Amino acid sequence: MSDQTYDTVILGSGCAGLTAAIYTARANLKPLVFEGHEPGGQLSITTLVENFPGWPDGIQGPELIENMRKQASRFGAQFRLGHLVTADLMKHPFSLNLGSESIHARTLIIASGASARWLGLPSEQALIGHGVSSCATCDGFFFSGHEIAVIGGGDSAMEEALFLTRFASKVSIIHRREHFRASKIMLDRAIAHPKIQFVTNAVVKEVLGVEEKSVTGLRVADSVTGIESVLNVSGVFLGIGHIPNAAMFAGQLELDEDGYIRTHNYVFTRIPGVFACGDVQDRRYRQAITAAGSGCAAAMEVEKFLEEHGK
Ligand code: NAP
Repeated sequence: MSDQTYDTVILGSGCAGLTAAIYTARANLKPLVFEGHEPGGQLSITTLVENFPGWPDGIQGPELIENMRKQASRFGAQFRLGHLVTADLMKHPFSLNLGSESIHARTLIIASGASARWLGLPSEQALIGHGVSSCATCDGFFFSGHEIAVIGGGDSAMEEALFLTRFASKVSIIHRREHFRASKIMLDRAIAHPKIQFVTNAVVKEVLGVEEKSVTGLRVADSVTGIESVLNVSGVFLGIGHIPNAAMFAGQLELDEDGYIRTHNYVFTRIPGVFACGDVQDRRYRQAITAAGSGCAAAMEVEKFLEEHGK
């Protein structure tokens, strides 16, 4: 265990964590940011962000996140690769075990976000990296000229499908219902795209190609008639939402039925000095701007906490 005690440690380097880093660094608290499993969070694997205020022509997600990181570094935030393995939040300062090192923190900002959800089919798991992916911007290029499927009915699925039309000859959006969660603007864009077709009321039963070690298609059942059919595709992209990265706090913080950290007054957890922001605690809005806003709020509460309890 390192003897050093940090005023504030931030877990996660997405929009929420980096905004918290900018504010706490600017308050001269020298935050230590652990970048987590997916440095940069979801923005780092997205494409054009059109709804972040201040960018009238949009900005690429990775560029936006890189700008935030530079801004936090300029004010003295320190960054380390690593993610939390276990934490003892029952005593103060908090003990954090990050695998390669263990440290103490007077305050903790949890901005560990949420990770891609998988269907959970054995065939899907066997073919991850062999035609099954959860990241269109990372892997789309490999499917130039191929037919592919995107699974899901929300904005992520629409965004992935639209992005993948750059490479694929045809993109099938497979959705388990008739109605879509996606916003109207995203859905309309997908409907209008000549390369995109929709397969609704369709439940994926199996990803084909396990023996070949490469995706050859999907076995899909119609949820109304039960009739099964095969869709020949060489790539499958998951766009079915995310799971909050909060399991390591089970038993110490209050989690809701889907594993999100329950907060009160925006960013407070049940433990004084521990704040949560961004997608790990927000199941409702989950936008870059709301994540940034809650990161700001968490940072301001950290400042108040340290003022009241002494550094
Ligand atoms: P989401 O809105 O929760 O949509 C998830 C979709 O996946 C739903 O259609 C859901 O179907 C389906 N799904 C979930 N589990 C499934 C399973 N096991 N099998 C098959 N289908 C399954 O998630 P999201 O699309 O990732 O969006 C999350 C948030 O980020 C939203 O607030 C969204 O607006 C935002 N976002 C915005 C943009 C943008 O504006 N450019 C881009 C991406 C995301 P059901 O509908 O049947 O439940």
